Amino acid sequence: MISLDAVSKVYHGADGEVRALDGIDLRVARGEFVVVRGPSGCGKSTLLLTIGGMIRPTAGTVAIDGRHLYSLSPAERARLRAERIGFVFQLFHLIPYLSALDNVLVPVLAGMKPDRDEAAAVLERLQMGERLRHRPPELSTGERQRVALARALVKRPEIIFADEPTGNLDPENAAAVMGYLADFHREGGTILVVSHDALTERFADRTVHLDRGRIVAESARS
Ligand code: ADP
Ligand code: MG
Repeated sequence: MISLDAVSKVYHGADGEVRALDGIDLRVARGEFVVVRGPSGCGKSTLLLTIGGMIRPTAGTVAIDGRHLYSLSPAERARLRAERIGFVFQLFHLIPYLSALDNVLVPVLAGMKPDRDEAAAVLERLQMGERLRHRPPELSTGERQRVALARALVKRPEIIFADEPTGNLDPENAAAVMGYLADFHREGGTILVVSHDALTERFADRTVHLDRGRIVAESARS
């Protein structure tokens, strides 16, 4: 479903060149749950944003169902993303002055039929039914992560991309969030998680280890 061939990304920053991705080949099958694990700075967020159509690689190709993402027009790319992909961003990207419920409705407003009942149902499923009207500053970190996850799920995407979904969570909340991703996977969803956290691995079908922009090892769940 997802295929990367010889993907590299070089940033030209104030401190010179950074080769964030260096010749990545990766396949993710439909219905697969893959974790890409590696230390901070190894290129995980860059990889996820590249697969998500938000960062054009310096070299190589990214395809979803055989369609080359960066050959599409920006509008086509945005539509593919809106229709098929749910993102859970690092640091959540929640809007501080909107309630939990309205934060979940944000992507819906950007192109799909708004459905408050469905948004509320998704939040309830994530044990957030008592927090619908809380704004992000009034929520715990674990609760904010659930809102970010609900926002991805409400679109009924085929694919979820999640960047450090357990980052800053205590083990209990981390396991809960991974459990919700596992539910999505069990219902047929395809998931790619990038994380530095070893806990994420036991939920995945396969773990790909990333180091300094390269895939250095792969392991299937034992
Ligand atoms: P990770 O998510 O694994 O922590 P990132 O993909 O965020 O890693 O970053 C990979 C490397 O690229 C890091 O060394 C980082 O400093 C660098 N980098 C990330 N974004 C930029 C940018 N916009 N400009 C320059 N360098 C960047
Ligand atoms: Mg990152």
